[in-house]
Amino acid sequence: MSSYERVHIGGSWQRPHGTERLTMTDPRTGEAGATVTLADAVDVERAVVVARSTFDEGPPWSLADRLDCLDGLADVIEAQSETFAEQISAEIGATDQFARLAQVGVAVSTLRGIVAAARDYRFEEEVGDSTVVSEPAGVVAAIAPWNYPLHQALGKVGAALACGCPVILKPSELTPLSAYLLADAARDAGVPDGWFSVLAGRGDVVGAALVESPGVDVVSFTGSTDVGRWIASRAGSTLKRVALELGGKSPSILLDDLDEQAFAAAVRSTVAFCLMNVGQTCAAWTRMIVPESRYQEAADLAKECAATYVPGENLAPVASREQWERVASYLRSGVEEGAELVYGDPRPASPDGGYFMAPVVFGRVSTEMRIAQEEIFGPVLAIQTHTGDDDAVRVANSTDYGLGGAVFGDDPRRVGAVARRVRSGSVHVNGLNGNRMAPFGGYKQSGIGREFGRWGLQEFLEVKAIQPPPGYRLPRADQASLAVVGGGS
Ligand code: NAD
Repeated sequence: MSSYERVHIGGSWQRPHGTERLTMTDPRTGEAGATVTLADAVDVERAVVVARSTFDEGPPWSLADRLDCLDGLADVIEAQSETFAEQISAEIGATDQFARLAQVGVAVSTLRGIVAAARDYRFEEEVGDSTVVSEPAGVVAAIAPWNYPLHQALGKVGAALACGCPVILKPSELTPLSAYLLADAARDAGVPDGWFSVLAGRGDVVGAALVESPGVDVVSFTGSTDVGRWIASRAGSTLKRVALELGGKSPSILLDDLDEQAFAAAVRSTVAFCLMNVGQTCAAWTRMIVPESRYQEAADLAKECAATYVPGENLAPVASREQWERVASYLRSGVEEGAELVYGDPRPASPDGGYFMAPVVFGRVSTEMRIAQEEIFGPVLAIQTHTGDDDAVRVANSTDYGLGGAVFGDDPRRVGAVARRVRSGSVHVNGLNGNRMAPFGGYKQSGIGREFGRWGLQEFLEVKAIQPPPGYRLPRADQASLAVVGGGS
């Protein structure tokens, strides 16, 4: 069995100070796998010292060189996509195809999108007589979840490096080894010494030490709302900047003007996105809000669609036993609160072997039920009903979350009006539509800040107004040399 006893600090593998050993479990079999020695708070300080001195005193790394290097990193990952995909499958149980296309393929596209956004970004602009410059914000701690480990890591690491910020990545306890592959890929792509560290460790040890370190300027966190709340409050003590990408309970609204075929397509699309990655997607459409008069049509279609997902065949296991128990407890809660069981077994037998779980569809879910309010993060769809567009918006907005959503309808004016009233960071129209240059993030308890596109870069930039006297002309900086860092440059 492989054993990993190392941390990646500023581009080189070192012996960790931490001594705790974590045994990985393969969710597909429930069997023990590699062991990983976890970093501790001393390792965090070592990584922070290196990142700090890179930022404050290191040789400059120009914007043009950074972006070329990140392009190269995308190439390296693409060339090793099988290796990344196999590792991610072993860590979180994703099927081979999903790991290759969605986990690795989307991650590479995300990184290329960040580079494209940075190439377009105006790091310097004139506002009246002032020159407004966007400069790197400093040392970044990137704390990532396990559900799309490479994509989440690159969303932070790519944007931080593009902006000129050294970055320390703390992956989830479930996915340290895919993050270590990323460390090697960054080295292969030529990320210079000092700019990138990866520390596998516990959230309450390594994550907390990063959040509390005075040497860290920005915390970019993706994970649960509870941990995000704790991070925001602790980061306040050193007044560091925080970007939070948190949980969701996203609605998919079906308007009453859809014809039979479009209605069926909308249900299929909703079930598919709800069950993507076994329901472990932050923006998943987990609440399908359908016209009251078409409830039975929607329930029958959802049942038919959910039945095509077979655990172990085309449905992967959930990522951990803890995740399995959590989903099972929500299934019990759905039954206890009186939701109608449309499809599936709400009392699955405990898994022996892999952490597989069949989809469950609940109907007639009222807005007060826990399964309507709380993020389950498993293969569970709740069907709710509306009596018209205003009521659909009311039901859609009836949770504390505001991350994703969808509106399906025939009349673009109605669809647009409803989409604008949904209090969420993104709303898809008539299907799942990707745009790597668009921002992603949450309203309400789903977060603070945005990732991707130019909005994602802003999380890692400070803005300075240089104010000359009237008539004084400041020479324009050449774009390639902008956002150069290094106090010694
Ligand atoms: P989590 O909050 O348990 O952990 C996320 C990360 O935070 C992990 O690396 C963990 O080790 C670390 N952490 C835990 N406690 C910490 C602490 N006290 N200080 C600092 N770091 C700490 O979340 P998870 O279970 O890994 O991921 C699932 C959650 O992530 C879901 O709620 C999901 O909706 C959310 N998520 C959100 C987005 C988004 O973009 N909004 C994307 C993916 C996942």
